[in-house]
Amino acid sequence: ASATPAAFIALEEEHAAHNYHPLPVVVATGDGAWVTDVDGKRYLDCLAAYSAVNFGHSNPVLLDAARAQLGRITLTSRAFHNDQLGPFVTALAELAHKDMVLPMNTGAEAVESGIKVARAWGYRVKGVAPDQANIIVAGGNFHGRTTTIISFSDDESARAGFGPFTPGFRTVPFGDAAALEAAIDENTVAVLLEPIQGEAGIVVPPAGYLPAVREITTRRNVLFIADEIQSGLGRTGATFACDLVGVVPDLYLLGKALGGGIVPVSAVVGNRDVLGVLQPGEHGSTFGGNPLAAAVGLAVVRMLAEGEYQERARVLGAHLHEALNGLVGRGVVAVRGAGLWAGIDIDPSLASGRAVCEALMVRGVLAKDTHGSTIRLAPPLCVSEADLDWAVAQLAAVLDGF
Ligand code: PLP
Repeated sequence: ASATPAAFIALEEEHAAHNYHPLPVVVATGDGAWVTDVDGKRYLDCLAAYSAVNFGHSNPVLLDAARAQLGRITLTSRAFHNDQLGPFVTALAELAHKDMVLPMNTGAEAVESGIKVARAWGYRVKGVAPDQANIIVAGGNFHGRTTTIISFSDDESARAGFGPFTPGFRTVPFGDAAALEAAIDENTVAVLLEPIQGEAGIVVPPAGYLPAVREITTRRNVLFIADEIQSGLGRTGATFACDLVGVVPDLYLLGKALGGGIVPVSAVVGNRDVLGVLQPGEHGSTFGGNPLAAAVGLAVVRMLAEGEYQERARVLGAHLHEALNGLVGRGVVAVRGAGLWAGIDIDPSLASGRAVCEALMVRGVLAKDTHGSTIRLAPPLCVSEADLDWAVAQLAAVLDGF
């Protein structure tokens, strides 16, 4: 096949399963907040791989960490120790102010692992009767794609045709603490929430919600699990979105940016009284905690410990939201979000989110729609203020064109 964009797309169409509907851009390289396609055209990346590329494409610090480790050893399995895992889990635990880390690979694995840990804690520590544990989740959630996780999704396109489903989950409306408390019974082991719902369209709950969930779960002896896989690690202007409202969950679920956009790295982070329930042989992963992942993850944690990326997200995020709010009434119905993370509701009578993203692509901005008429922006946190202004100008021009 000749190396045209259409030829690469045709290869994927023919031989890759059609579980995505990508924009018709074929990326070849990336540097900072920008990517370049196979024809040499540059685009501002306003998705950052769903926040997995928070620190930018080809981040030199992370590439150096990866390259150094590539030349040493990349995989030992956890049948043996390696000299990267200990420093990584120590640094990550310190960043999160927790005792322990369970290293995994993908976000969905971190969620699955958090569910297993919560159930084990429920049976062994809380004293829930065997197989009776329930976990409370929120409507509109997105936690991944495994069969157990889609069991508590309310998105029909994620669920339909994939049953039978895993029991043991209860759904309550996101943002309603009274409904959450009413759903708790003596068998409830955990509440699992995204502090800001990402795939739902960057939905920020009322300010008192997460503190209320923390108070309720503490009082009712239920674990609070915060899925910070998309919201965490700098995106919202803080290390964790929970920090924005002064909340400390029992377990953090982390992924995406933890691997610096280089390797899949995820983790469950918590204190010994919870994560300590796991015993040898009860859980594992061939690649979880591998030395390459740990070396990159350690470099990520060290960058976050300095706070510069969180500060960029906070300051540039305020600038971005102010600019986007200027488009309300000009084709934009509402803007939500925190830090460098924005959900933008397009007037559905004007255009679909997909149509807006296609028009943005032509103008050199890559973004992704969700739920029909919403687009989300989540550029790498190394993006410049001028880049952001330019992207908002492109969006304004696209909306004016419909
Ligand atoms: N949890 C949240 C909040 C997410 O946004 C995602 C991915 O978008 C996941 C979990 C699943 O992560 P992964 O795709 O790495 O399995």
